[in-house]
Amino acid sequence: MKHKDAQEIVKEKLPEKRYKHSKRVAETAVEMAKIFEADVDKCYLAGILHDYSKYDELSEMYQCVTQYKLDPNLLSFKSEVLHGPVAAVKMREEFRIDDEEIYQAIMNHTSGRSHMTLIEKIIFTADYIEPKRTQPGVDYIRDIVFEEQNLDFAVYEITKSNILHLVSKDRSIYPRTLDCLNYYNMVKE
Ligand code: FE
Ligand code: FE
Repeated sequence: MKHKDAQEIVKEKLPEKRYKHSKRVAETAVEMAKIFEADVDKCYLAGILHDYSKYDELSEMYQCVTQYKLDPNLLSFKSEVLHGPVAAVKMREEFRIDDEEIYQAIMNHTSGRSHMTLIEKIIFTADYIEPKRTQPGVDYIRDIVFEEQNLDFAVYEITKSNILHLVSKDRSIYPRTLDCLNYYNMVKE
């Protein structure tokens, strides 16, 4: 898919604010691709498309999980986790984007997982640090990415912060997110 076409489908589907976020994630992912020597084109596409299903109906998302035999654990979670897997499947099934790396990057941007590919780690992190993000600790993560250039450590710190936040709100943790924490705790330097 051409960048322009990807931009168009996202612009049509999402509210302006989310479209702009998607563009910033794509641009941040490209910037990171240059540093970490990833495929720039795939990073742009995965970045612009990652939130395509952000506002889909929850019932439709659950239907998608069943229809495409996605992880059944997803049925215990809501849009916050589901919009990644659902967008990934839609890109493959409806828009014929037949690229495993883009698929996984969109799929796992909401949860992380163990053993992520370079492009998955870039999208996961770019989503967290795009320039308009202001959450506490975001500058610390930006330093890890752009100064230390330690992507595994950035993934670990983001996942840790997400889990701490969820636990403080008495929310459940999607199993792949725990796998992500454990794995990157082990491999980070
Ligand atoms: Fe998202
Ligand atoms: Fe996002």
